[in-house]
Amino acid sequence: MSAHIIDGKAVAEEIRGEIKAKAQKLAARGVVPGLGVILVGFDPASVSYVTAKEKACAENGLASFERRLPAETSQEELLAIVREFNADSRVHGILVQLPLPKHIDERAVIATIAPEKDVDGFTPVNVGRMVLDEPCYLPCTPAGVIELIRRSGVPTNGARAVVVGRSNIVGKPLMNLLVRKSVNATVTVCHTGTKDLAAHVRDADIVIACAGKPGLVTADMLKPGACVIDVGVNRVEDPSAARGYRLRGDVDFEAASKVAGWITPVPGGVGPMTITMLLANTVDAASRISGIGI
Ligand code: NAP
Repeated sequence: MSAHIIDGKAVAEEIRGEIKAKAQKLAARGVVPGLGVILVGFDPASVSYVTAKEKACAENGLASFERRLPAETSQEELLAIVREFNADSRVHGILVQLPLPKHIDERAVIATIAPEKDVDGFTPVNVGRMVLDEPCYLPCTPAGVIELIRRSGVPTNGARAVVVGRSNIVGKPLMNLLVRKSVNATVTVCHTGTKDLAAHVRDADIVIACAGKPGLVTADMLKPGACVIDVGVNRVEDPSAARGYRLRGDVDFEAASKVAGWITPVPGGVGPMTITMLLANTVDAASRISGIGI
């Protein structure tokens, strides 16, 4: 068997077309959806993520308002900028790039973001609304995963889903989204305390790997025909690569793609969906805040 390779770039492109059309409708009514982006420090991965997000805004008719701050920025200074964005009517969504330097309390910063501008879906208010299945901004990577599954035609009703990882930004939200009636999967969440990971994964119709461990999910763990979504992005040394490293997912892609029914590659799977969902949330925020339906 050879899996259907889910092309995250193509799905993201399709959704970006929808986002662009909505942004144009809002712009025609005088509202340009705006994303306020805050980066503290110069961590190379964070710089590249922020740059990619700003580029995506520009390409899709959104404005971005950027604050790149030195690593020694104090928590009070950062909170003041978040509050400034909260009050700025041109800013409909706020993104604070994580991780923040150690001297800053990440929770305090996230909790200061106005929930109606929390397009990352990280504030306690949004998380609560997500769990209660109330209107809210869904966290971008988990929302992107669900959208990829949905648009790829993977059956989810009654499916057994295994999520490998329980972080607040990926694993736990996925668990919540997969059990929604609209998806209707039966969900198991695995973590470092799980006794027999392979036994759980082997039982799954849908496997979502979000552990940050290269090659953790191997072909022999998979049920033939399963849908395998690889969220992991790991840098592994590769002297033959120009940068000295290459990106690898949490799944042994080569072997797993011979067993799975659907599989996402890394890169080019979940990654492009994350930024796309951020754009979607920001356009949605602009519509809600301005009261202009799209
Ligand atoms: P994280 O906060 O480090 O969480 C990792 C989770 O995986 C933890 O719950 C951990 O369990 C679990 N885990 C680690 N090793 C395991 C093992 N051997 N067996 C079972 N569970 C294990 O990571 P994260 O922020 O959720 O990110 C996960 C991965 O997704 C990373 O590679 C990250 O780069 C990637 N990511 C990609 C995107 C994207 O857009 N594509 C976005 C976000 C994250 P414990 O709780 O027991 O420690």
